[in-house]
Amino acid sequence: MGKPTGFQEYNRELPGKLAPEERVKNYNEFVGLYSDDKLNEQSARCMNCGIPFCHSGCPLGNVIPEFNDAVYRKSWDEAYEILSTTNNFPEFTGRICPAPCESACVLGINKPPVVIEEIEKHIIEIAYQRNLVKPSAPFIKTGKKVAVVGGGPAGLAAAAQLSKAGHSVTVYERDDRPGGLLRYGIPDFKLEKWVIDRRLKVMEDEGIVFKCNTEVGKDISMDELTRNNDAVILAGGSTIPRNLPIPGRDLKGVYFAMEFLKQQNKRVSGTEFAGEEILATGKDVIVIGGGDTGSDCVGTSNRHGANSVHQFEVSLKPPRERTPHMPWPNYPMVLKTTSSHEEGCQRYWGVNTKEFLGDENGNLRALKVADITWETDVTGRPIKFVEIEGSEREMPCQLVFLAMGFLHPQHNGMIEQAGVELDERKNVKAKEGVYRTNVSKVFACGDMRRGQSLVVWAISEGRETARKVDEFLMGHTMLESKDAVSAFAY
Ligand SMILES: Cc1cc2nc3c(=O)[nH]c(=O)nc-3n(C[C@H](O)[C@H](O)[C@H](O)COP(=O)(O)OP(=O)(O)OC[C@H]3O[C@@H](n4cnc5c(N)ncnc54)[C@H](O)[C@@H]3O)c2cc1C
Ligand code: SF4
Repeated sequence: MGKPTGFQEYNRELPGKLAPEERVKNYNEFVGLYSDDKLNEQSARCMNCGIPFCHSGCPLGNVIPEFNDAVYRKSWDEAYEILSTTNNFPEFTGRICPAPCESACVLGINKPPVVIEEIEKHIIEIAYQRNLVKPSAPFIKTGKKVAVVGGGPAGLAAAAQLSKAGHSVTVYERDDRPGGLLRYGIPDFKLEKWVIDRRLKVMEDEGIVFKCNTEVGKDISMDELTRNNDAVILAGGSTIPRNLPIPGRDLKGVYFAMEFLKQQNKRVSGTEFAGEEILATGKDVIVIGGGDTGSDCVGTSNRHGANSVHQFEVSLKPPRERTPHMPWPNYPMVLKTTSSHEEGCQRYWGVNTKEFLGDENGNLRALKVADITWETDVTGRPIKFVEIEGSEREMPCQLVFLAMGFLHPQHNGMIEQAGVELDERKNVKAKEGVYRTNVSKVFACGDMRRGQSLVVWAISEGRETARKVDEFLMGHTMLESKDAVSAFAY
């Protein structure tokens, strides 16, 4: 434990960030780094709890009190070694994770929790500065070949771990560059793309091969992939968005969020894209859906110079603080105000969109909406909404983004060719902890298996799947299991 009285002496402080009016001028990240002293103080707040609930909050099982202690002592090699034992990509999670570890932090019972996510980001950035992040594949190879389909965080984590185990790994990616939603979903202002390229360089130096612009199921068949490899991992993400099939859906000006976000990330990176340009400049924008994707549409629209940005949620406004239904250390479903909301956005809850209204040229001109309330079951869970009489009205807009989540992965192509079973939600069926599909030597992980989720879960699933593949190929595995690392730390 760094400093026994740290949690009493210091308050939680986040690093400084650029003011909203400054940061919307470009697509750069805008969160700064701590000074040495401030980082030291923030790590000193960790109490090294007897039972560190932060571990259980983290899907990766990050060994948090140990790295907080190493940071306090400025022992950077040690801090990096502890962190990289459980997390292949702290530079991603340190920037964009919703930090379930912080929701579970014991200090959070009666004080603001330790800034675990920021400490993680500082450890990895300092490690890169000090040249501690080096390619680390073993000299002796197993002679086994593994194909990973999908270069998102799940596929990348699986590839990194399998390479560490001495296997020859090829990652197949249908986009022009690996990264998955990190590259062509999450905007640059949350994660600049050089951060991904820096990591990919390390992975390439380890010997991992990336075959981009290659769609499995189209440019190369599943049959060929399974014939030429000892194991195949499907990590293609969850890509079919939830639609809103109400009257007027075909009007010009109604788009899925990812059509907008992917195009903008390509624009920032100078990559060509096909199809019409979607620009929010000078327009009244309404974003339907309140999660990360919706928030990213808000931030991007403001950077385009939208005239106004509104965001609708069909659910009711969540409470500002934990209620008795969501006690610590559970992840609290409380009101989340993102940095994009701070930049300018009018938010509405309990609103149902009934119709897209157009002009005589087929262009969107407004939404027909109504306020609603929810009927709940005995546990308070919402089950059915009821429209509030007399609340129907028109909301003028020229651009709408549908950000209501993703249903399941694309089935035609790779999944159909693979012949893998699907679960009841139409994701690839492979039991958690086992990650094997019904087809011999084919495994699945990440959003393609668990459904739309988080980057930290994708990395966790990629790592755990790599262990299972290694066991399948070698009969045993030396790759770290998240449970074993956490148990050792206790
Ligand atoms: C806009 C947006 C913002 C988000 N923001 C956050 C956030 O702030 N924090 C957070 O934790 N999570 C966030 N998420 C969720 C997070 O990005 C995903 O949970 C995570 O990326 C899933 O990782 P994955 O590797 O399973 O899939 P993906 O990242 O989707 O990667 C799958 C990859 O597989 C490729 N692929 C698919 N099929 C094939 C094929 N047949 N052949 C070759 N390649 C193929 C795809 O091109 C893609 O590159 C966000 C999601 C979206 C859409
Ligand atoms: S729960 Fe919080 S205070 Fe306790 S060890 Fe983890 S980070 Fe430190």
